[in-house]
Amino acid sequence: MYLYFPKLKPKDECGVYGVFNHENAAQLTALGLHALQHRGQDSAGIVTSDKKKFFAHRGMGQVSDVFSNKEILNKLSGNISVGHNRYGTTGESALKNVQPLFSEINIGGIAIAHNGNLTNTNHLKEKLISDGAIFQSTSDTEVILHLISTCKGNLIDRLIYALESIRGAFSLILLTNDSLIGVRDPFGIRPLVLGKLGESYVFSSESCGLDIIGAELIRDIEPGEIVIIRNNKLESVKPFKKTCLRPCLFEYIYFSRPDSILEGRNVYNVRKKIGYQLASENKEDNKLIDIVIPIPDSGNASALGYAEKIKRPFELGIIRNHYTGRTFIEDSNTVRNLAVRLKHNPNTSSFIDKNIALIDDSVVRGTTSIKIVEMLRNCGVNKIHMRIASPPVKFPCFYGIDTPTKEELLASKYSIDQIRNYIGVDSLKFVSLDGVYKALGFKNGRNNQTPLFTDHYFSGDYPVRLIDQDAGVLPSQLSLLIEPTK
Ligand code: AMP
Repeated sequence: MYLYFPKLKPKDECGVYGVFNHENAAQLTALGLHALQHRGQDSAGIVTSDKKKFFAHRGMGQVSDVFSNKEILNKLSGNISVGHNRYGTTGESALKNVQPLFSEINIGGIAIAHNGNLTNTNHLKEKLISDGAIFQSTSDTEVILHLISTCKGNLIDRLIYALESIRGAFSLILLTNDSLIGVRDPFGIRPLVLGKLGESYVFSSESCGLDIIGAELIRDIEPGEIVIIRNNKLESVKPFKKTCLRPCLFEYIYFSRPDSILEGRNVYNVRKKIGYQLASENKEDNKLIDIVIPIPDSGNASALGYAEKIKRPFELGIIRNHYTGRTFIEDSNTVRNLAVRLKHNPNTSSFIDKNIALIDDSVVRGTTSIKIVEMLRNCGVNKIHMRIASPPVKFPCFYGIDTPTKEELLASKYSIDQIRNYIGVDSLKFVSLDGVYKALGFKNGRNNQTPLFTDHYFSGDYPVRLIDQDAGVLPSQLSLLIEPTK
């Protein structure tokens, strides 16, 4: 028999948040989600428990749209809460996929919020469906609920079984009637931190979600760690024999908020240091460049570092309109192109007749760069020297950062000189991968034997097997793959 079901959609770079033991758990969660809004603007949701009943509210759009009045939040009773911001694209942006997902299983109700992408859920889903499971969503997260529901034992035994079955990137927060559980995958690919506010505990994708409610950052959840909070006690379980911290490098380059602290590093400082590296690797730049202009906001911190190092003024030559969404979120090319114009406007007087260094954090499809370069050319800039604060993005991501298929990635098809020509700049330089590692504090750069971060989009080194993906996308470094199983 041939079973047909829609393929699970990847592209889930999201924000997760949870509060335990606070009378305003839902309100604090809404604030936390607000601070994590940059991680996803597609939909938002909160599920709470008052130990007897569960309460939920979910909707499409940003946190302030979904939780648009206090009555909505007031209905979410209880002292325990879990919330989610979702980053999706058209087609998968359906209400059925809005998290936290909730299910009543034979050991009680359970809600789950997931950041990251799993790489073997098509296989697991096929097996579960042939065993009779009925899926309500097209999100890979639902597979975890099914795995928990179809095995035996207490909640933690079941959770361990589910976690051992899945592969890929996952930072999870689960809520039951009386507990809140935080989980990070065995490589710690996506971030998750633990905080404390008086007698309450908080989980957040990033520390900026703790700052907004005045909670103290306790620590990052460790790779492969399950932290269970129940009866106001915290218990840590580490079920995986093999774990190895390899957090996603793109969190430092682009995704996380600059004021967040990931694994003890302030993201803003790292970005600034990448800017220093970019300048150190291009020693002649101070002879070419009059002023340094970032593409806001993604290029701001690295442009500051770069300008400091080459001793040239930093100018806001492009002004960003903050009231439009991210260009990446728009699915069609036409809308995406239009969105770039909606978002950025030239501040002409600052750069007319000048030779500029134009700084951005990354080039993916090149859409942003092309539009901005054209805009600056039309406004009388002299030379444009584009400098990118990350290496060329050559390989797609299957762990939750929305870097598209190989065919869409400029750097996977073209040489740097061809990209320079395509974007229309006078010169183009990318920081080296070693330079990024140096900015993170590793004097000798990237150690190829034991890479310290997940950096496959630059290196092709995928730490977790891509079981659902075509063999064609697997990189030459396949032998480096480690299976995070017992
Ligand atoms: P592109 O315009 O396709 O070259 O994309 C690069 C721009 O999108 C840069 O300005 C980045 O700041 C931003 N960007 C890079 N990676 C991502 C991502 N995974 N999701 C959303 N935006 C991104």
